[in-house]
Amino acid sequence: MLKFAPLINNLLNMTRITVAKGDGIGPEIMDATLDIILTAGAKIEIEEIEVGEKVYLSGNTSGIAPEAWNTIRRNKVFLKAPITTPQGGGYKSLNVTTRKFLGLYSNVRPCKSLHPYVSTKHQVMDLVIIRENEEDLYAGIEHQQTDEVVQCLKLISRPGCEKIIRYAFEYAKQQNRKKVTCFTKDNIMKQTDGLFHKVFEEIAQEYPDIENEHWIIDIGAAKMADTPEAFDVIVMPNLYGDVLSDVAAQITGSVGLAGSANIGEECSMFEAIHGSAPRRAGQNLANPSGLLQGAIMMLNHIGQTAIAEKVQNAWLKTLEDGIHTYDIFKEGISKQKVGTREFARAVIANLGEKPTVLKAVSYSNNAALNLPKYKRKPAAKKVLEGVDVFVHWNGSNPDELAGKLHEIEFKDINLTMITNRGIKVWPEGFKETFCTDHWRCRFKSRVGVEINKTDIITLLQNAVDKNIDVIKTENLYNFDGKAAYSLGQGQ
Ligand code: NAD
Repeated sequence: MLKFAPLINNLLNMTRITVAKGDGIGPEIMDATLDIILTAGAKIEIEEIEVGEKVYLSGNTSGIAPEAWNTIRRNKVFLKAPITTPQGGGYKSLNVTTRKFLGLYSNVRPCKSLHPYVSTKHQVMDLVIIRENEEDLYAGIEHQQTDEVVQCLKLISRPGCEKIIRYAFEYAKQQNRKKVTCFTKDNIMKQTDGLFHKVFEEIAQEYPDIENEHWIIDIGAAKMADTPEAFDVIVMPNLYGDVLSDVAAQITGSVGLAGSANIGEECSMFEAIHGSAPRRAGQNLANPSGLLQGAIMMLNHIGQTAIAEKVQNAWLKTLEDGIHTYDIFKEGISKQKVGTREFARAVIANLGEKPTVLKAVSYSNNAALNLPKYKRKPAAKKVLEGVDVFVHWNGSNPDELAGKLHEIEFKDINLTMITNRGIKVWPEGFKETFCTDHWRCRFKSRVGVEINKTDIITLLQNAVDKNIDVIKTENLYNFDGKAAYSLGQGQ
């Protein structure tokens, strides 16, 4: 029967989707969401999978069984309720794994205030956060390197930047939005956030009709929390987007109101932005709106825009009627405090209705965006200029360490700098600078002279012979005539 399902679905115009009811409040908000969209006429066939806490606790550290992956990959569209990642080591977040395994590079999180029906300090807020979803510190590559220092690698790639930034501009164009803002911290992270900003400047040129601007994330975040109406679409690297989209959702009235779409070239996943709220579970209390918003984005994505529109307008009308769950209930504004199921019933009763004060939606052009595939650029001319050798050393006087390191120099490859947590401590460091047991020791050849990998091996062999505890190295490259590594702070 399963064999013929795609054919039958085609004939009936049905889309088969994967559904996971998740943990905590997940099953309650998923039942409410499915009830609403199916009553509204969504043409979907549901294939349910089990993911999350039960699977983790059965001994599967990824929280999902291989058969469930097959279902997700076959159906391509995934509606997922929040899941609980058990505390303690050894369990990997299934959300991050799913986004990365399926190449869901774009995380779209609209945050709109619903004044005067949902209490908020920001009455005209209507912004969309587009969060890069696959890289940055979420690569999860972490190591302890010395007694005192652990490291997390921040990876930012050109394809990653191009894909998400182009998505942000295409989204703005499709949704008739006027401005795309980029948040980074490239005054500090000149290589990683610097690349994100640079690619933003390049791609913005292709969209002359859309205003563009860049803010340093700290003041940008402050401005967004204070004056969100100054923003329209905001694109940013993964970690900043994770943090700021919760802030943006919360200041519209409740984190329980916002949904999110995770979009890739082949697959997509739709969810609420909040977690499984275990303290609220099983009490018919939770607001299903966040997951419902995710489901509405899903309906648009699979081309069922009329149903999406009908559900969104019924939801707006319900909020306008003052029928509110506990998280947005406010005396004087709300009329009736309801539970999850009653809220869903109220939305169902309003199907076909439109809000009268809040603006009714009309989804004329909300189909899935089809972006061109990333084209790899021609390789640059790459020259090896030196190497940073990271050393575990328990001493405290950098001059003493420099003395040891001079003993391993050879040919023209010389020690040029030592830093500790990035700040230059040799030559000419400050005695006030606090030093840990983790030292970056930069070796370079004379200006303009290339070194090779064998030179690095010789340098490391010299270090081993002198009992210097090398913990890792980073090659210092020059790409197309430009040094592509950071200076020491204070250098
Ligand atoms: P949370 O978002 O689950 O809940 C924080 C608080 O926000 C709740 O206690 C509740 O007061 C409120 N809240 C959240 N959603 C609500 C809703 N729909 N209606 C009403 N109130 C709501 O955050 P947490 O407590 O930090 O995380 C709980 C679990 O969820 C953790 O295991 C975490 O790993 C997981 N989590 C999962 C996802 C996901 O599946 N996408 C995302 C974030 C967190």
